Amino acid sequence: MDSKIFKAVGIWSLLFIFLATGNGSTALALSQSDLDSIYNDSVWYKATGGVGGAGSDQCVPDLSGSGNAEKIWNYLANINIDSKTLLPPQIAGILGNLRAESGLNPKATNTNTPDGTPAYGIAQWYQGRLSYLKNWSADQGLDYTTLEAQLRFLEQELRTYKRSSFDAILQETTPSGAAKSWEANFEIAGGAGLDNRIAYAEAYYKAYQQGKLGEDSSASCGPEGGGIVNIDGYAYPVAPLNKSAPRPADTHAQPKYAFDFMRKGGTAVYAVYDGSIGRVNTSYGDVQGCSSINLYGEDSWKYWYGHLQKTLVQEGDTVKAGQKIGEVAGFGGSACYGGGPHLHLDRGYPPGTPGGGGTLAPDDNSRRDPTFIPFLQKLYDELPG
Ligand SMILES: [Zn+2]
Repeated sequence: MDSKIFKAVGIWSLLFIFLATGNGSTALALSQSDLDSIYNDSVWYKATGGVGGAGSDQCVPDLSGSGNAEKIWNYLANINIDSKTLLPPQIAGILGNLRAESGLNPKATNTNTPDGTPAYGIAQWYQGRLSYLKNWSADQGLDYTTLEAQLRFLEQELRTYKRSSFDAILQETTPSGAAKSWEANFEIAGGAGLDNRIAYAEAYYKAYQQGKLGEDSSASCGPEGGGIVNIDGYAYPVAPLNKSAPRPADTHAQPKYAFDFMRKGGTAVYAVYDGSIGRVNTSYGDVQGCSSINLYGEDSWKYWYGHLQKTLVQEGDTVKAGQKIGEVAGFGGSACYGGGPHLHLDRGYPPGTPGGGGTLAPDDNSRRDPTFIPFLQKLYDELPG
């Protein structure tokens, strides 16, 4: 791409922000209605269908979620380029920019541009990049005016001539840092409206931390309500895709008596049985936010949930079977979840019992329950559908 195009985008964005704010000064705080729209995740556009489908045992980035902010969040969380994925502060930084550019409206058009040609869509693509959006979408059989096409195109840009923006934002650890990085490297708006971009990014990150964003992200990967069914006091630990989908447990190499549920990032994870929460590790594999949970069941087993994001419980909490305790991690790449987002679950002997206590090594099968996999299969068989 010609760098002149990017410069033109920058000039135009500067103009847009000037026009949008009316006085050219930067707004320091978001209005209450802005905040309401973030926390309530107003719906601008509803996709008519997911991307790629969830027919296999592995979910792919799609448009799950109840509104555009959530759909965009979930899509970005599942982008995986060379085993690198975006962390929540980085996703918030991108979302804040898109909000400032377009209000997250894929049909947003503005012709107050230097040459009068329209800028368009969630990222306000302009000139050459807008042409490419149209041509690329047509090649993919997508309607370029949809959120679906634009998110896939944004990913395509990150994979190709905007790869440096992806690498740059991966270095950022805060929503504000990420917002600045995305403005400088992807939007190239010359710093225009930077305070708004940052304020939106921080508000989205806060909404995420409060569970007001990303909550419904398991919707496309399982039935409504997560498919929780209590069987003899037990609940299935994760929303099933459909009855044929879970990866067979016997493919797990080490530990041998463990189960991997391949699910999209953000999929809800549930307590298998009534119990109390033990250690919650929030930087698994040295990836901040990649988490694991120990659950001491009243059935006397210790359950270990691995490769999570957004844990909803703390050590010492009491939980009920079927209670949502966390989500499958959709970020952090191979250091967090290995070959793809999934819930790892096994159960072993708790402290104070023969063979119990301490940290279980991956290959220490002697301290895990060999009946757990057939038990999960039995639970699964009793699910409806
Ligand atoms: Zn595993």
